[in-house]
Amino acid sequence: MPHVITQNCCNDAGCVDACPVDCIHPRPDEPGYLSAEMLYIDPDKCIDCGACIPMCPVDAIRTEADLEPKFLRYKDLNAFYASESPAPAPRAAIPLTIRTSSRALRVAIVGAGPAGLFAAEHLLTQPGMRVEVDVYDRLPTPWGLIRAGVAPDHQQTKAAAEVFRWTTRRPGFRYQLGVEVGRDITHPELSNAYHAVIYAVGASVDRHLGIPGEDLPGSHSATDFVAWYNGHPDHADQEFDLSGTRAVIIGNGNVALDVARILVSDPATLAPTDIADHALEALRHSNIREVLVVGRRGPAEAAYTTPELLGLANVPGVEIRIQPDEVREASGLKVDVLREVVRQQQSGPRQIILRYLHSPVEILGVNHVEGVRVVRNELQAVDGGVRAVPIDEFETVATGLVLRSIGYRGTALPDVPFDESRGVIPNVNGRVAPGVYATGWIKRGPSGVIGTNKQCARETAEALLEDAVANRLPTPPKNLWHIDRLLDERAPRRLDVRGWNAIDRSEREAGRLAGRPRRKFTNIEELIRTAMSAPR
Ligand code: NAP
Repeated sequence: MPHVITQNCCNDAGCVDACPVDCIHPRPDEPGYLSAEMLYIDPDKCIDCGACIPMCPVDAIRTEADLEPKFLRYKDLNAFYASESPAPAPRAAIPLTIRTSSRALRVAIVGAGPAGLFAAEHLLTQPGMRVEVDVYDRLPTPWGLIRAGVAPDHQQTKAAAEVFRWTTRRPGFRYQLGVEVGRDITHPELSNAYHAVIYAVGASVDRHLGIPGEDLPGSHSATDFVAWYNGHPDHADQEFDLSGTRAVIIGNGNVALDVARILVSDPATLAPTDIADHALEALRHSNIREVLVVGRRGPAEAAYTTPELLGLANVPGVEIRIQPDEVREASGLKVDVLREVVRQQQSGPRQIILRYLHSPVEILGVNHVEGVRVVRNELQAVDGGVRAVPIDEFETVATGLVLRSIGYRGTALPDVPFDESRGVIPNVNGRVAPGVYATGWIKRGPSGVIGTNKQCARETAEALLEDAVANRLPTPPKNLWHIDRLLDERAPRRLDVRGWNAIDRSEREAGRLAGRPRRKFTNIEELIRTAMSAPR
């Protein structure tokens, strides 16, 4: 009975190495891995050994016989990938590299999200090398998008953070939480004390549409809305007008689907999650009953992934609708899945309407958003891709809430190279220059799922280790004692592993009392107070 990978797949590829018959693809060394929506098991090759199951941090692998009805479609998706993709090249044996160095390698990692922590894990598990890693974050909490980005109704995806508990227990690991690099400490100061600095700061700002009305009250970036419902301290006080019955989301990536689901989910189904208290309360009073998700291209080109589209079908009380003329001419697996999802719908009190082939041209309103004017597009093939070209047909949709979900963008850090046009730190395989590296979204742009960062971080850490062994790293004149003295002066309330563990314990205990996985503290002072109150 073959195994099947299902919706939660985080692409971290831990299962790939465990498989004795190489039946899980795409492997990280295969083309297509970085853009893969998920990983797939070839049912004809799987020998049902189950070696992959304990390697999956998000419990995404099932035996075919145990598939819950909502995951049945994944049986075909796994088989389809195997039948459609070219026969994979044999897996090359990964040589165990034993590098030795007489001195401890000191590395600062800036950003405590998945990319930074995966890099720390790789560096701290090098046989034959003594590595010390300080992981910095401007917030008093780690885990980046696992804490502040993954939707609360995707609790299983958050299980990916469990592996980081092991990382923080490894000798040589320290957190420097609540320290902002560029404000509390500079890049030259880090380079003076560490052999290498890895930037893993993500892509935290939203992209702009550049259309009139974009800044009207009632028009927000989806990234702000996500940070709000996830309890990010910078966004906890934000307000979203949920008094109207309709919201419009521009863009149709996975963030757009997350936001659409959260807006129309029955708050009772969100209550047992780690959604921020303030968001749950606001959603309980929300009047939103209909969410339009507007993609500029067709359903075959939609940016959301097939697993997330399939996931929409399982939101209780939510009906998924399309406008048939926008889908009629499209074809392909993604379109077939869309049609199935729509066909299997029961009518529900709340709706997500997936619209295609429309771009916003203006957000309308005087003192507040009152609507969105969109133009219809035609598709045009260009350079192996498909682009949207407007035609002269306009439509106005009345709404009081517009969420722009058109992707994230990285921002420049003082004294660190930056490519303004791509919003990333320019690098080759993670190497910016010997001693300076990048990983995650600030390295490759905002793409991929949580586990994609594991391979990305590994590549960066390997570039750093190669430089270390080849003696290409500059020798820092100062040491960690010097860094600690600087931070004692400039960030005296910074938190270490003990401080974060205290917050984590308190949040989980508060959650347990309320029947939830955790109740997040969303205020910086409250977070620091909780950390400080932990016994030494
Ligand atoms: P995304 O996948 O890049 O989607 C951006 C969307 O914005 C696309 O539909 C894009 O259309 C559209 N867009 C861009 N510029 C536009 C413009 N000027 N006018 C109209 N539409 C425009 O970005 P995302 O949704 O922010 O996601 C970022 C990454 O996080 C992705 O890799 C995603 O898979 C990942 N993520 C994963 C999950 C999950 O696995 N559950 C959840 C959230 C995020 P075009 O396609 O036509 O460019």
